[in-house]
Amino acid sequence: METRLVKADGAAVEETAELLRSGGIAAVPTETVYGLAANAYDVEAVRSVFRAKGRPQDNPLILHICSTEMLYDIAESVRPLALTLAENFWPGPLTMIFPRKPHVPAETCGGLDTAAVRMPRSSFTLALIEKCGFPIAAPSANTSGLPSPTSAVHVYDDMNGKIPLIIDGGECRFGVESTVVCFENDDTVRILRPGAVTPEMLREYCHVVIDSGVLQKLDADAKVISPGMKYKHYSPAAEVYILKGSDEDVVGFIKSRNMNKIGFLGNGNEELPDNTVRFPYGVTPEEQAENLFASLRDADAAGCAEVYVRMPRTEGIGLAVYNRLLRSAGFRIIDAGVSDALQK
Ligand code: AMP
Ligand code: MG
Repeated sequence: METRLVKADGAAVEETAELLRSGGIAAVPTETVYGLAANAYDVEAVRSVFRAKGRPQDNPLILHICSTEMLYDIAESVRPLALTLAENFWPGPLTMIFPRKPHVPAETCGGLDTAAVRMPRSSFTLALIEKCGFPIAAPSANTSGLPSPTSAVHVYDDMNGKIPLIIDGGECRFGVESTVVCFENDDTVRILRPGAVTPEMLREYCHVVIDSGVLQKLDADAKVISPGMKYKHYSPAAEVYILKGSDEDVVGFIKSRNMNKIGFLGNGNEELPDNTVRFPYGVTPEEQAENLFASLRDADAAGCAEVYVRMPRTEGIGLAVYNRLLRSAGFRIIDAGVSDALQK
């Protein structure tokens, strides 16, 4: 199949809507990462999405909507707190989980009796949903297990030959997927996946519980609310490690690695040896969120067998960076300040 890359303009909205209406799939930009879009109510189209990604069938898709009306078409019930959060964070990177109505296909929701819903902020994708008139299921447009795509080229690298159309809307603003929450009760949410809507922001409106799966490793057979939490995720081909410690200790550790080409994501102050290739990362949580996935992909393209990433700060969107990075690194954290870290 030929894969076309098309600029995100009005004509592309028409073309993509036509494709989705006839049961096709296409990659579209959002403010978080690129999504692989299908009519959420079309079981065959949804199956094509799972196939193109190689995504496990029990890992549910998020339904993207453009109006509260669409939410009521999906959700059996909507708590007042959900409406408050929708008013304050939609359109934007917050996904909320609701009991689903029977007509919402089980396939879309990974067999669960709930549906995850969000209203994206990307003007292209909002216009697309409006034009379609149905909610769009759109998981991240990467091959399952690889880092999520934050540019149309990343999507092309994974999906060339597998999907007919990629809409290029430039680089994604946030660079990490949406915050996913479910409701504990009328005034408490549980964060299942951290994102750009941070715990600090949610606490303005309700109590916030952070699920233990956010920063802990889960077994493949673990019973979890959000199935996506237990899978290998966001991993490039390179072996990724999180490096803790001062600039000096970190540089000392890197120098001790006797390898041809080491990938490194740091703050820019480290004086690295010649065998080390630096990829963009940054200092603030926002910069790190924007750069993480692209840099992991670039490290692969550059042929680095190992990539070391400085420990992120975990406030704000930094919690999302740490959550993704832990999975990229298979939860491997090296303390560069400890002398036997060098014996690894
Ligand atoms: P992705 O589409 O790749 O951004 O992943 C979507 C995430 O949302 C996964 O971690 C899913 O487990 C989670 N998710 C989607 N639908 C539900 C649902 N109904 N209940 C719980 N988690 C969900
Ligand atoms: Mg994903």
